[in-house]
Amino acid sequence: MITAMFAGRAENWTIYEPSLHKAFAEKGLEVNLVTSTDEPNNVDYMIYAPAGPISDFTPFTNLKAVLSLWAGVEGIEGNKTITVPLCRMVDPGLSEGMIEWVTGHVLRHHLGMDKHILGQNGEWNNDVVPPLARDRRVGFMGIGELGLSCAVAVATLGFEVKGWSRTLKTVEGIDTFAGEDGLRKILSQSDIIVLLLPDTAATKNVLDREALNLLPDGAFIINPGRGTLIDDDALLDSLNSGKVAHVTLDVFRVEPLPQDHPFWAHPNVTVTPHIASATRAESASLTIAENMRRGEAGEPYLFTVDRAAGY
Ligand code: NDP
Repeated sequence: MITAMFAGRAENWTIYEPSLHKAFAEKGLEVNLVTSTDEPNNVDYMIYAPAGPISDFTPFTNLKAVLSLWAGVEGIEGNKTITVPLCRMVDPGLSEGMIEWVTGHVLRHHLGMDKHILGQNGEWNNDVVPPLARDRRVGFMGIGELGLSCAVAVATLGFEVKGWSRTLKTVEGIDTFAGEDGLRKILSQSDIIVLLLPDTAATKNVLDREALNLLPDGAFIINPGRGTLIDDDALLDSLNSGKVAHVTLDVFRVEPLPQDHPFWAHPNVTVTPHIASATRAESASLTIAENMRRGEAGEPYLFTVDRAAGY
């Protein structure tokens, strides 16, 4: 019998317990699923989430893998007490949610929806030719599981889509870039830029003052990645000068975003409270169970974190 410990948030246990048992049964696994134990040396797999009960993995001497419920692993990848494979979450439900959130915000800015939603003034002013997606360039910084899913969805609508990653990718219908030179190219060629990069040493402040200045005038930024990707002060200056027209931010250096932070009151900043997408228990449990099945069968785990790269 395998022992797995659920070390997620206590309030999520009631959602995850039935989903995990269902997924274990589907994968043919017999699992003793616990939320705490007096015998840490008996735990085979740790199902982990930030703000859960475990941060020191030292007592779990026979652990085979740590399976994260979150896609972003910046809070755990540097944990030196983890000496076994660490796998991040890739979940079709999480991807679907991100596609919907990103597409919605891209279309909002592309179509200028705010003008009519917020600006009804009784005037019948229809002398505007509606824009077409094919005339708008959308750049994705980060074309991994989430960024690529969103890029493909947005390209399907007709937008001219570009993608930037650490290693150069080939994706049909999408212009791809990598490296410093690629960064300059994607920034200067994107009217709307979407950030779906992980928080690592290499991505901190990737949108700094110099990078923001490379964007076309009046660009839009959408950040469901991580707050550390953008230099906040430089961003506020870019918004105030009109260089950046509007920014939609879902993630912040400090969460919850402090009430006195200038982002809350800025007319050209939309704050969403880290709700772009969430791991869905039913589909995510299958990812967890598949990795446990692999571990038991001696097969390589899926979605292992490259601890040197930090994601
Ligand atoms: P992946 O690991 O699948 O993709 C990460 C992408 O970023 C890859 O394309 C990778 O390049 C690229 N990248 C990493 N480092 C660099 C670098 N130094 N320079 C250029 N590109 C780089 O992650 P996911 O798509 O699953 O998730 C992305 C992030 O989304 C998560 O880390 C998390 O921060 C955030 N997230 C936010 C949520 C929300 O609700 N707001 C929900 C879930 C996740 P390469 O392809 O070459 O490896």
